[in-house]
Amino acid sequence: MNRIQPLQQTELVPVFQDQFGRNKRKLRISVTDRCNFKCVYCMPEHPEWMKKHDLLSFEELYHFCEFMVRRGIEQIRITGGEPLMRQGVVHFIAELQQLKKIGLKRISMTTNGHYLKQYAAELKQAGLDDLNISLDSLDTEQFEQLTAKKLQPVLEGIQAAQQVGFLIKINAVLIKGSNDNQILHLAHWAKRENVELRFIEFMPLDGDQNWSSDHVVSEQDILDQLATEFEIKIGQSQGANPARTYQIDNMPIGIISTITNSFCGSCDRLRLNAQGEFFNCLFSTQGLKLKDSIQQLRQQSLSAEQILQQQLQTYIWNKAAGFHAIQAQQKQFNLEPKSNPNFRKISMHMIGG
Ligand code: SAM
Ligand code: SF4
Repeated sequence: MNRIQPLQQTELVPVFQDQFGRNKRKLRISVTDRCNFKCVYCMPEHPEWMKKHDLLSFEELYHFCEFMVRRGIEQIRITGGEPLMRQGVVHFIAELQQLKKIGLKRISMTTNGHYLKQYAAELKQAGLDDLNISLDSLDTEQFEQLTAKKLQPVLEGIQAAQQVGFLIKINAVLIKGSNDNQILHLAHWAKRENVELRFIEFMPLDGDQNWSSDHVVSEQDILDQLATEFEIKIGQSQGANPARTYQIDNMPIGIISTITNSFCGSCDRLRLNAQGEFFNCLFSTQGLKLKDSIQQLRQQSLSAEQILQQQLQTYIWNKAAGFHAIQAQQKQFNLEPKSNPNFRKISMHMIGG
């Protein structure tokens, strides 16, 4: 990546807001759709990877991030696919530090942890603020069934991240009849390791669209299991945090219960995928193709900024109320993903969780 030009001071622009009055403060950037794992709840059996030449360069992504920070974005999360599979991502994070002078507060990453042993120290040095690491099972065989990769490198990655001083959260997606026997194991492990654990309800974002509500382990199911061995107290109020928080034996845990208790009412997130498609919601049935407009930003012309501003403002304003509203609309217009050939396949590995 060429050296990014120093920032110039421009006038303050209002924060992006949607029709329900929700201000947008968080941006998720998926830097690649590729992944070395094949999680059953995410990756399709036969993924069609984005072409490398269709991806936005890190320089282009940087200009987009700068544009968004000037419009109120305070937190950027780097995700994927597996973000550590894209060469140059550590340097990109180091470059993003410049945006802290104009309002960016945190730079985070979500990773499967496999390459962390190799990258933890570099990421810390690049100024990454925190890490979410996915870990769905502590049973070696079950982990391999879920991800098609080995557990040990992930455990070593978590250790490496802790050793260099990262604040980490562990994300565990639960699937009924598959890894719901891990709830108590993971909770005891998190207590021993002194890491914050978040359980995630399985969402209909798997690549092959095999999701069914029967596979969901609900927030209540999780709490019921935890209550057999821990004392549970309600944690701090949720705000724009997707996780509902609890204390188990005085240790904080979170549950992201999009299906049974969606947090959409206070959602402050926006998303850009690796080829420049922008989404106002994880479940949006239509993205906004911004690659050309983002590429124009490099020219630092006022008109390029104005065009992008206009496109984003309208699209963000029209963000739906949330997951349940989108589902209801699909049912009403018979837009069920499987029965409609024009329906955009929403797969987590392409949009970034
Ligand atoms: N590869 C990285 C990882 O696994 O952490 C980052 C990308 S992954 C798409 C981001 C997060 O989405 C992970 O925590 C993963 O567990 C979660 N995820 C993927 N598919 C999901 C689904 N269908 N329902 C709920 N969470 C899902
Ligand atoms: Fe890869 Fe993350 Fe999806 Fe698993 S959840 S397949 S690690 S992108």
